[in-house]
Amino acid sequence: MKIFDEIESEVQCYARSFPRIFNRAQGEYLYDEEGTEYLDFLAGAGTLNYGHNHPVFKEKLLEYIHSDGITHGLDLHTKAKGEFLEAFNEKILKPRGLEYVMQFTGPTGTNAVEAAMKLARNVKGRENIITFTNGFHGVSLGALAATGNSHHRGVAGVSLSGTTRMPYDGYLGDGIDTTEYLDKVLSDSSSGVDLPAAVIVETVQGEGGINAASLEWLRNLDKVCKKHDVLLIVDDIQAGCGRTGTYFSFEEAGIYPDIVTLSKSLSGYGLPFAVVLIRPELDQWKPGEHNGTFRGNNFAFVTAKAAIDAFWSDDAFSKEIKRKGEYVSKRLESIVEQYGEGNFTTRGRGMFQGINCVNGDLAAQITRKAFAQQLIIETSGADDQVVKFLCPLVISDENLKRGLDIVEQAIKEVCAKEDSIPEEKIYFDQAS
Ligand SMILES: *Cc1c(COP(=O)(O)O)cnc(C)c1O
Repeated sequence: MKIFDEIESEVQCYARSFPRIFNRAQGEYLYDEEGTEYLDFLAGAGTLNYGHNHPVFKEKLLEYIHSDGITHGLDLHTKAKGEFLEAFNEKILKPRGLEYVMQFTGPTGTNAVEAAMKLARNVKGRENIITFTNGFHGVSLGALAATGNSHHRGVAGVSLSGTTRMPYDGYLGDGIDTTEYLDKVLSDSSSGVDLPAAVIVETVQGEGGINAASLEWLRNLDKVCKKHDVLLIVDDIQAGCGRTGTYFSFEEAGIYPDIVTLSKSLSGYGLPFAVVLIRPELDQWKPGEHNGTFRGNNFAFVTAKAAIDAFWSDDAFSKEIKRKGEYVSKRLESIVEQYGEGNFTTRGRGMFQGINCVNGDLAAQITRKAFAQQLIIETSGADDQVVKFLCPLVISDENLKRGLDIVEQAIKEVCAKEDSIPEEKIYFDQAS
């Protein structure tokens, strides 16, 4: 369709990798205008953990619309909001022994991150926030200052300030616990690192290349924060809502962050929705200090509650995610063993996994080949070198296998065909 070339901005991105006109979606499938069926292993970059247009959520939403339920209500108390809060408190927070108040922000992830960072700075009366190499927290200026990627940072147009970067787990190689360095600079009054208000961290870095922090590292980070009276903010926007196998990605580490951001799969239906969870004693906002016209999307309250009721009333779903995650691990390890020759490595946790192909061209060849087989799968990482598997968590075993088969075949072909690997092959070999 010419109109996209004519008047849609050059800023478009995913549309370039998958140049089709999509008009329908269900579960793990996307369909284009010609009726071609695609398996969706991108799933809204982690927004569609429950698949496209889940029939139960859709029914609830349609009922709500038919009954003229509130669509927009600023931050008014609505029935839909109350029911969502109750479901979240009863089925998510209480069973996990977590106590948080919930702030509704503007509907995107970056809105929640901005609010979390602003609150932390105000509560502690300090400006600095510790962020990590390869972290991604959004592209509005405050969140962008916490984001590592130079492609995004480069267009800020103003200086990005108020943050200090520290090495994430694994950044300096295996066996080096980078929280020791953080502890050291926070203990040394001449380190040049100002005492921060908070640390903001992803337990698994999504956009940064599926780097999974070890549970021990997360616990050590928590300890360092406590030792220095620094707040711990977990940005669970992509890793949360079940992706790693538990509702919150930090549960397995046994930590209780001061502030948590959620968005992406929170509404369950792909509707824009973001929140900040705040330990009650830190909720020092004054009325209206941080507002937003689209705080609290009532349609999203309805589908988010439906998602909690349907999937999080017991631990069956969590077990399913772990089971599927183990299958993905096994398959990826077998791929690396067969074709890797030390070049490919696996990474991730739960259903949040990837294959590091060392260079972006190789990863792009693999995803292009996969797309030719009707599999939509993307890359992430500093050089787009990681093929990331983000399929809906509800995917059938059969389709999970099929998607992995397609990627395996693509890797096999790319490895076999010398001429399809451009000059970067030299780098690719050397890196092994
Ligand atoms: C996607 C993402 C964001 C930003 O969310 P937007 O809705 O794109 O603003 C922030 N943090 C993490 C970890 C993300 O994955």
